[in-house]
Amino acid sequence: MKNECDIVKDLLFSYNDGVLSETSKNFVEKHLKDCENCNNALKEIRQENGKIEQKKEIDAFKGVRKKISKRNNVIISIGIIILLIIIIFNVLVFVNYNNMITTIQITLQKDITEEQLADIENVIKENASGVEIEYISEDYQLRMLQNWLEEDAHILDNYKGGEDSPFKPSLTIKVKEKNDTQKVVKAIKNMPGIYKILNYEDQNPYILFLSKLLYS
Ligand SMILES: [Zn+2]
Repeated sequence: MKNECDIVKDLLFSYNDGVLSETSKNFVEKHLKDCENCNNALKEIRQENGKIEQKKEIDAFKGVRKKISKRNNVIISIGIIILLIIIIFNVLVFVNYNNMITTIQITLQKDITEEQLADIENVIKENASGVEIEYISEDYQLRMLQNWLEEDAHILDNYKGGEDSPFKPSLTIKVKEKNDTQKVVKAIKNMPGIYKILNYEDQNPYILFLSKLLYS
């Protein structure tokens, strides 16, 4: 039997996989009926195969878990990016708003006298410490528009400077403290020579920011 056992053991793997010819299969099965030794060998093979199958299942499960956690990571990353964009956007909006509410745009009458202009500037300085005042003439605004239009600037040919400019002179006021904005506006509101005062305090910070993005 010793010799036959060796042959059978060689065939057991193929037998277990079900790939033996009918003749060999009959031979193995006939031997297995009487040989405990070879039966044990077959059992061992089947146990080993079971372990391998189990390991394959575990690996597949791990693979799925890996895929899920990869997807979760992507979702979390996108969430963090969106959150950061929202935070940065809001910071920019409010930096811009704080910057703008300390700015007052004053449009002056075309026929404002030098005395009236000097009076206005004095009252502004009295009501806000460390204030910056920039005078922008109607000629300067006309030139800015001409520059901006570039080769189309000729459509402004009919407008000469000075009295003939389509613009009014203006003042851009920059105060340091935003509380000074209201003080300045209140003090100069009814002074002669002023056409219109614009400050941004009552306006929506988001709209201010978006319009600045659009027009600059
Ligand atoms: Zn045997």
